[in-house]
Amino acid sequence: MRAFVEVDLKAIAKNIKWIKRGTSADILAVVKADAYGHGLVPVAKTAVKAGASWLGVALLEEALLLRKAKIKAPIIAWLTPPGEDFVAAIKNDIQLSVPSLTHLKLIEAAGKKAKRTPKVHIEVDTGMTRGGLLKEWDEFLKVIAKSNVEVVGYWSHFARADEPGQKANATQEKIFNSKLLELMNTGVIPKIVHFANSAATLTIPAVHSQMVRVGIAMYGLSPDVNHMGSSKDLGLTPAMKVKAIVHLVKEVSKGSPVGYGATEKTKSDTKLAIIAMGYSDGIPRQSSNAAGVYIGGRRAPIIGRVSMDQFVVDLGADSKVQAGDIATVIGGKGYSVDEWARAAGTINYEIVTRIASRVPRIYA
Ligand SMILES: *Cc1c(COP(=O)(O)O)cnc(C)c1O
Repeated sequence: MRAFVEVDLKAIAKNIKWIKRGTSADILAVVKADAYGHGLVPVAKTAVKAGASWLGVALLEEALLLRKAKIKAPIIAWLTPPGEDFVAAIKNDIQLSVPSLTHLKLIEAAGKKAKRTPKVHIEVDTGMTRGGLLKEWDEFLKVIAKSNVEVVGYWSHFARADEPGQKANATQEKIFNSKLLELMNTGVIPKIVHFANSAATLTIPAVHSQMVRVGIAMYGLSPDVNHMGSSKDLGLTPAMKVKAIVHLVKEVSKGSPVGYGATEKTKSDTKLAIIAMGYSDGIPRQSSNAAGVYIGGRRAPIIGRVSMDQFVVDLGADSKVQAGDIATVIGGKGYSVDEWARAAGTINYEIVTRIASRVPRIYA
């Protein structure tokens, strides 16, 4: 195996328990995108065991994989465009989000076909201007009470919860509450109101309601290192490490151009290691020259451009590293997910979710 992702399931359990201590709301563990790259089924099982009572995914196929793995917890899938197999969703007891009148009609029709009442969560757009009912709201209020669905939940999503104190959060909260009143005035009383993502779970207790939807924090990462501090500041333990085997070590002379475009030259006689991972594995090409690996007791920075399947690091002339040794590419004593994110000009969410499926996940 030339590279692998080491997932610390104990860290995930610990993070969930830590988050649970800060709220009386139920926890919905967000396991979309292969559990943020950590592995859908093992993470979902761990989350449920650690005290999450719900699971949330974006796609219907993700929800169906959870059912196939015999996971019994209630599941919501919230990104299901027209054309998705709503009948299969209902038959597998997967709860669906309703972000439009079109979705309501399609889900009702599928319920009739499946001979079951679909369980749904009404999604309102409270200012993010992405998912959820907006201008259709008044029309929706006229039909929802007599529709053939069971309204289990009412929900929305924050655009700027990772900026504590940001006025937009209070504005979204106000809209959320006033629309909930309007809904209840039609006689529809959702059992579960849910609004908070990780950032709001950690910083806005007033919006926890009955349930919080926790993603990034359960993986031990900060929703926003600039506004909210690091994992450590938040009491979270990162769960992902990425490791790779050194393919080759070679001695080179000062001034040797390294990699495509010869963007860098060695500054002295040194040893280089060729690491068997590249941008097709999810190592960001943009991070060329700004991140690296931990190996032989020290950090070795990337030199030159990241290639598709490999990149080169500068070990230093005195290094004892040999081909076959294991380099820590992300996490542990190496460059953290947040350091890789900074190097690539992106966020920690993208670093963990972009690790390709061809890199095997190993569980500890
Ligand atoms: C991804 C997602 C979350 C989790 O967000 P985090 O910032 O990772 O906690 C919560 N709710 C919805 C609807 C999402 O799509």
